[in-house]
Amino acid sequence: MTRRPLKIHRWLISIVVLLLAPSLLFATLWIRNTLSDVHAVDRSMAGLEMLIELEPDIRAAALGDTPITTPPKFDARNRLAMPKMVHNKLLEDYVILKSDVSVSEAVRRARDIVRAIVHGVDLTSVTGPDSAELPYLVSDSILSVVLESSAMVQTGNRIAQKDELNLWDKMAVTVQGGQFKVAADLVSRVTNQYFSMLQMQGAGKLQALAESYRDANGSYQKAGAELLTTTLQSDLGITIAAGPASSSYPVLATACLDLWRGIIDYLAEELAQTRQAKIVAVVTASSFGLVVILLALSLATVLGRSLAARTRKEFDHLGYEDALTGLPNRRALVKSLSSISLPDDNSRVAILHLDIRRFKAINSRFGDAVGDEVLRMTGALLSSVVGDKGIVTRIGGTEFMILKPGIQNAAELKTFAGGLIRLLARERSIDGNVLRLDCCIGLSLTEPGQNVTNKLLVDATLAARSAKRKGTQNIELFSPDMRAIFEKNTETAKELHDALQSGNIVSWFQPQVDIATGQIVGAEALVRWVGIEDGVRFPGAFLPAAEEAGYMEAIDLTVRNQAMSVAFDMQAINTRAFHIGLNVSAKLLMDENCVEQLLAETRNSGLQPQQVSIEILEAVMIDAFSAAPIRANVNKLSELGFYIELDDFGTGHSSISSLRDLKINRVKIDRSYVAGVDQNPELQRFTGALMQLARSLGISILAEGVETEGEQRWLQANGCDVIQGFLISPAIPREQLFAMVGEQAFIMPQTKQLTS
Ligand code: C2E
Ligand code: CA
Ligand code: CA
Repeated sequence: MTRRPLKIHRWLISIVVLLLAPSLLFATLWIRNTLSDVHAVDRSMAGLEMLIELEPDIRAAALGDTPITTPPKFDARNRLAMPKMVHNKLLEDYVILKSDVSVSEAVRRARDIVRAIVHGVDLTSVTGPDSAELPYLVSDSILSVVLESSAMVQTGNRIAQKDELNLWDKMAVTVQGGQFKVAADLVSRVTNQYFSMLQMQGAGKLQALAESYRDANGSYQKAGAELLTTTLQSDLGITIAAGPASSSYPVLATACLDLWRGIIDYLAEELAQTRQAKIVAVVTASSFGLVVILLALSLATVLGRSLAARTRKEFDHLGYEDALTGLPNRRALVKSLSSISLPDDNSRVAILHLDIRRFKAINSRFGDAVGDEVLRMTGALLSSVVGDKGIVTRIGGTEFMILKPGIQNAAELKTFAGGLIRLLARERSIDGNVLRLDCCIGLSLTEPGQNVTNKLLVDATLAARSAKRKGTQNIELFSPDMRAIFEKNTETAKELHDALQSGNIVSWFQPQVDIATGQIVGAEALVRWVGIEDGVRFPGAFLPAAEEAGYMEAIDLTVRNQAMSVAFDMQAINTRAFHIGLNVSAKLLMDENCVEQLLAETRNSGLQPQQVSIEILEAVMIDAFSAAPIRANVNKLSELGFYIELDDFGTGHSSISSLRDLKINRVKIDRSYVAGVDQNPELQRFTGALMQLARSLGISILAEGVETEGEQRWLQANGCDVIQGFLISPAIPREQLFAMVGEQAFIMPQTKQLTS
């Protein structure tokens, strides 16, 4: 009995040390962090002030007015702690902006300056999730509209004075018009979609400015279209109408700059509020801190008694917590489902299954420690956006599952998920490594009045699979057919495994023919699944399942081996140049060992790189996450002599930039530009433009999916080099290809001599 008080005393001391000391430490850290947040906000506000000071200069430059004569007064280096080099470049741009250069050059410099400031103060890191788009509008999108429209006016005025236009003049107007339209439509879309989510006082004004912008954009686009059509028809003696674009430009530029300024004001208002809130939080927290210490001391006695029990509970808890992020795990989520009460307001509960794509690349490029930090940061970001009413869990690997109550409908849920994707896709610096995350999200939603069950989690996971299949930054809402597809794919994957083992996955070959001579000059290897009851299966029926089950690499390797062996054997009957076309997946093209592997396979099969043609889907180049590593590998392959082809050309919306950045030997015009082209004048304009573009850059042209002689004739008349399609032959097995080439050797006298 006499020892009891002593024991309690010991407990008390350990509790003070165990609970109070860490919480004090934590509180100090928290206050320090919050104050450094305040500092970040201050820096951003200083950046916005500089933009406001710059506005008259930018306006004068955009409208071609006389420059304002005040000397440059940037002390950005002091105010924004800018690196010296960036600051020097900024001053240089500023001097040019105010000198006697063309309007578009001046606007380009203005945009560079604004970008340097917005990035310099890392504005995106302090804006809220609703206004996440705004910094981009300020630093890029809106000024790009001014830039592209002014460049269009300039180009229009220039060519209107010429007596005769050449191809490059026409291309210049077409390309310029396209670039303007992309920029202008982006701003329309963004302001249309996201401005309605803005919540502060200034939102109404901003929406009105966006409305004026869209009106001005509408008029300008009309004028631009007139310029474009008259340019394209100038050969018929029609006068080039450059005037309308020129005279509607000032209204557009003014609307852009008003909107630009409005957004800056709005951001400044938001930052002021954030700052205030943070300061209030620090002050409140510090005073609460004191009270908490006192409370903690008195609680210590009580806690002491239940400490043993608590410790046991903590141990229990370990099974419910993700060790890396500290978030609850899936088990915890499942456990908490039963305790979620039905909302009384008819609102619904959503599950979001979020997966970070291509995480392996982050780990292998930056190291596992950075990978771990990325996961922790993702967890923290998600928690901050989801709020206290929701639950954020990490369910393993790169996957997070979020429960979010209070959702009214699917549209609201999708908007929310879109916000998460954009938030994670922002550029961030982690331990000095700059990276962006590419995420997919699967969604499921209860019916009003329906309880949340385990099935809802499974549905979200199925939706996530479907989203992942569709590529980068996708969102999919669960629908019952996803379950059917999943079951079917699982079934197909099982059969596929056996088919690969028993050699029933084979390569067939579709001949490619020189349009002028009719000679077979190559063949594309296309995978087929043979040896089954229903005949032959085509890629569309099994590649999605193969992709999901991870069999693509094995399939592609099989196809490449067979294809290269065919190309090697072909040399015995055909002495002309012959390309074997290989469909190379984005995954392989991103791999570090891609070049080495393809080169080794080529050499091992006795071929030279010049005989092997690598088909790259145009679409993979739009994806900003993969474009850079792919570009590097493709350029290396090209240097080694591989023949590089851009597949499905015209469908990826990256035509011009792909042609500029990659060394492409040949484009494969997609079937959609070929089918019926001889009958359809509208299509002829597009297909003709694509072919002209390729030809003017000295790139060879292959047309895919040619089915009729009419199409062939039109293609030949318009400068196509090679055709592939059912008109010649579908994909055929190896022996049939040899027979076709052999027949040709028999018909063509030179070849006959060589082989006999
Ligand atoms: P792709 O690379 O665009 O291949 C051309 C597709 O068009 C082939 O379909 C071919 O059979 C079809 N085609 C050719 N000429 C005509 C025509 O005149 N009319 C019509 N309607 N279609 C024509 P297929 O064999 O079903 O392949 C579909 C896609 O699957 C290919 O599109 C390619 O992206 C992919 N693929 C095929 N084999 C492989 C492979 O071994 N590896 C990889 N990674 N992908 C493959
Ligand atoms: Ca292809
Ligand atoms: Ca194609």
